[in-house]
Amino acid sequence: MQSLVIFGATGSIGTSTLDIIACHPDKYRVYALSAFSHMEKLAHLAQRFSPKVLIVPDEKAKKDVLSFYQGATVPEIRIGQEGLCETAKDPLADTIVCAIVGAAGLKSAYAAAQAGKRILLANKEVLVTAGALFMKAVKDHHATLLPIDSEHNAIFQCLPKQDSTKYLQKVIITASGGPFRNIPIDSLATVTPEQACKHPNWNMGRKISVDSATMVNKGLEVIEAKWLFDLDVSQIDVVIHPQSTIHSMVQFIDGSLLAQMGHHDMRIPISYALAYPDRISHQAASFDLSQLTQLDFMPPDNQRYPCLSLAFKALKEGIGACTILNASNEIAVQEFLDYKIKFTQIAETIATMLQQIQLPVLTTIDEVVDFDAEVRTKTLQYLHSLRS
Ligand code: NAD
Ligand code: MG
Repeated sequence: MQSLVIFGATGSIGTSTLDIIACHPDKYRVYALSAFSHMEKLAHLAQRFSPKVLIVPDEKAKKDVLSFYQGATVPEIRIGQEGLCETAKDPLADTIVCAIVGAAGLKSAYAAAQAGKRILLANKEVLVTAGALFMKAVKDHHATLLPIDSEHNAIFQCLPKQDSTKYLQKVIITASGGPFRNIPIDSLATVTPEQACKHPNWNMGRKISVDSATMVNKGLEVIEAKWLFDLDVSQIDVVIHPQSTIHSMVQFIDGSLLAQMGHHDMRIPISYALAYPDRISHQAASFDLSQLTQLDFMPPDNQRYPCLSLAFKALKEGIGACTILNASNEIAVQEFLDYKIKFTQIAETIATMLQQIQLPVLTTIDEVVDFDAEVRTKTLQYLHSLRS
């Protein structure tokens, strides 16, 4: 029986994870759930899965979640980043599912690594902002890291388990191209948040949906792959594959190419990571090859997706640049979702911040967290200056 913590339980990944767990009550027990908003939903999840602990952002959220909760045994409520980190290290938890969105999940994921936990990582921003430090903590404390992000899960499935990169030539990360793959480039300036969040294949949270539309998501995934699999940037290719049937590929030095295929349903990579090294069934439909009509592949267009080149640039410049890329993107995406800037200003903002902010040397998680906060402030100041 695995005892599970789900950080970001009310989100898209959190909900899909709980869907799978509900099918296997003999294998998984929910120990703790966290959420930042939607306290009514968190209370319902608590009634359904009976966790011992809930983690909420503040005292008001604690009051709210308790007011909605109607179960017999009231869970312990922990608060804020401290509550998340305490739970990540809790001796009663075996597996931590990191499904918070953004760099807000960094400290708790790092705490889980330091505690040597089994970590199921969806929260790619952790590796983008602090890849080297996080991977060192995983190694030093013998944590087990299993990727949930579908592309990395596909690569993980295709790589040999021993000497995984010994005969590797490169990994090929697939991208759907998002909802704006075919619209005229000069109309990108006027697309709306609603259009950007309407992903053609995947149903995801709003931030990652916008990231997919700009393709900064693929850039974040390139950085994520670098750290997860210890790759050189020259070993990572991105290809547009509009059907999202192949979730990524691995090419070996003898020319063999292995791909992992399936429906675009996050329950597939989540269940793989949950059960690893076994496999478990779940409710995602199985893949019917007779329905497969076409598999298309094309290179990404830099003009349409400037964020992808910005991510490659940041990766070459190092950890400070990756933190700038991530933090300025998080701010710009939120401003776009709030109708304050245009879609095309997301890439412009990242490019400006990468140009303007001096690169620091970052050697600890606290330094990364402080620098991340500084970039956010500077990005907001820059965007306000454009409006004044
Ligand atoms: P979401 O917006 O649907 O859910 C995010 C969760 O994090 C919610 O439970 C929310 O309450 C919590 N949260 C938000 N801000 C927080 C904060 N400041 N502090 C603590 N908790 C906070 O997001 P999602 O789509 O489930 O994505 C979660 C992560 O998984 C992201 O890093 C995303 O890139 C990654 N991911 C998602 C998908 C997908 O299909 N949704 C696929 C691959 C990777
Ligand atoms: Mg992905």
